[in-house]
Amino acid sequence: MSDCIFCKIAQGKIPAQFAYSDEHAVVFKDLSPKAPVHLLAVPRQHYACIQDIEPLNMGIMAKLMGAVSQVVKQEKLSEKGYRLVVNSGADAGQVVQHIHVHILGGAKLAQCP
Ligand code: 5GP
Ligand code: ZN
Repeated sequence: MSDCIFCKIAQGKIPAQFAYSDEHAVVFKDLSPKAPVHLLAVPRQHYACIQDIEPLNMGIMAKLMGAVSQVVKQEKLSEKGYRLVVNSGADAGQVVQHIHVHILGGAKLAQCP
């Protein structure tokens, strides 16, 4: 999608600090981190939210979680723990309308929800 900031990051048109990249997904540092480690895992294909993905294309989320799995090991989060967050829609405060999984860790996180 031409005016989507995460599409542009995935295409290398806007700079970001990448932690991981493959043909299906990219993972990069959040610009405004809410934890010592705060990464965003983003599928290369543009969908605003999970319910927009056609059932036959739902493998996108499996591949995205594959990228998350690699990154939590690489960033040494798997031992002490981490939190995954997907904000969807206005009530959840979704700001960027391209599916993304927040990966938060590196410290004891406040209980949520
Ligand atoms: P949301 O509220 O949509 O779940 O979260 C969007 C996240 O994207 C926010 O945590 C915000 O800091 C991050 N973000 C917004 N614009 C950019 C950007 O241009 N680059 C990076 N790396 N992160 C961004
Ligand atoms: Zn997009």
